[in-house]
Amino acid sequence: MTLSLTLVQGAYIVAGLLFILALAGLSRHETARAGNRYGVIGMGIALVITVLAAVGGIDAAPLGKGGPDRAGSGALGLGLIVAAMAIGAAIGIWRAKRVEMTGMPELIALLHSFVGLAAVLVGWNSSYEVAAYPKIHDIEVFVGVFIGAVTLTGSIVAYLKLSAKIKSAPLVLPARHALNLGIIVTFVVMTIAYVVTPHSSMGVRQGLLGVMTLLALFLGWHLVMSIGGGDMPVVVSMLNSYSGWAAAAAGFLLGNDLLIITGALVGSSGAYLSYIMCRAMNRSFISVIAGGFGVEAGTSSGDTDYGEHREITAEGAAALLGDARSVVITPGYGMATAQAQYAVADLTRRLRDRGVNVRFGIHPVAGRLPGHMNVLLAEAKVPYDIVLEMDEINDDLADTDVVLVIGANDTVNPAALDDPGSPIAGMPVLHVWEAKDVIVFKRSMATGYAGVQNPLFFKENSQMLFGDAKARVEDIIAAL
Ligand code: NDP
Repeated sequence: MTLSLTLVQGAYIVAGLLFILALAGLSRHETARAGNRYGVIGMGIALVITVLAAVGGIDAAPLGKGGPDRAGSGALGLGLIVAAMAIGAAIGIWRAKRVEMTGMPELIALLHSFVGLAAVLVGWNSSYEVAAYPKIHDIEVFVGVFIGAVTLTGSIVAYLKLSAKIKSAPLVLPARHALNLGIIVTFVVMTIAYVVTPHSSMGVRQGLLGVMTLLALFLGWHLVMSIGGGDMPVVVSMLNSYSGWAAAAAGFLLGNDLLIITGALVGSSGAYLSYIMCRAMNRSFISVIAGGFGVEAGTSSGDTDYGEHREITAEGAAALLGDARSVVITPGYGMATAQAQYAVADLTRRLRDRGVNVRFGIHPVAGRLPGHMNVLLAEAKVPYDIVLEMDEINDDLADTDVVLVIGANDTVNPAALDDPGSPIAGMPVLHVWEAKDVIVFKRSMATGYAGVQNPLFFKENSQMLFGDAKARVEDIIAAL
């Protein structure tokens, strides 16, 4: 069945609006579910219309547009599309069912790499049919393949770093910034060469495209390899943004307006998220997207002797909490690994029932995903109004009786403020050490994600409660 162009464009506008509503909804806890639904409906409409149009073809006559209608691919095309979607959906459902909440960041990084790969394949495919298109199409091919290839290898490195398959410490190659700049300049020069080379010289054009693809693959790998542990959150949201631009580039190549709109939405919202995270972490946006440009790698060895740490038992912690009037809980990645959010929510309820003022302090990069802690606490039904951002709680910490640091490490590390040589120097952190007593829940004296020692653990008012965070919180509940 041939679809009219009016119907296709109308459906694309509706889907685009639903995607905008989805983004708006997802920006607040209360509206996140509705946002998710808008996104699902929008994507459903987009998929159905795109498949029908691809199979049945598009008739441009109703809009009075001249030019050839787009022919459909017929029954064979439908069979191929359905088979590809079935295989993709089966793999997607299998992975989504198996993934732990703690494994989400690396799964997302891997999914970004697929968008990059798709853009590279679409670009290469289009490069064989450029003769039928105007010159601007050459630029679209070159830029699309470039963004796609950077996204592809950058996301694979992010996946490897987030899943701890490779070290998260930054790779510092000699003249790394000159190398990155050299590749960008070469890319611009090669784009011009590609555009001016006549379509008849297919060998030269494909050679240029091939060399540029290899350079872009290297650039993506290098940009993310040279970003260190603490800055990875920005890299993840930046790759999210790149994947959007890669999709938009593919949209130009395929002449699909909805892919352009969707790609631009993902690209710009990802860029904005990266900007917010950079601000929260006191990092320069330009420096991070340029692979750490202008930032020297941390020089601090981190093996300073801070003295002895002190330990506390669950019973001791329960006694401190029993006497407290105000308690602040600062969760981190360890709460997610231990799946301690339900026990933490239970402890919160019990303390509040005793009249204790309990609040949460959430660092913008706590966990391994933007909003990771907020999602876990919402899942355990912790009231939103006691979950505060770092900036909202930091000034109150000095008047707090007990801070429970539950599986957080880098986000409560005073070295970020006191040690200019530390890899996390300059990153704002939760000032938990200002409270009267601090109890740190973790399994050992091991370092956090950024791999730096934490002087908090050795402070006079800090006590370590070793063990799995969920088990220890449950012990405290039992002792209370
Ligand atoms: P960290 O990753 O710094 O530290 C987590 C701590 O949790 C570890 O010290 C670990 O100590 C402890 N832990 C792990 N498992 C358990 C368990 N079962 N029970 C008790 N404790 C446990 O966490 P933060 O949340 O403070 O910091 C996040 C870090 O991750 C930052 O460096 C951030 O830049 C980075 N990051 C954040 C992303 C984001 O988007 N939010 C994305 C990528 C990286 P032990 O092993 O001794 O138990």
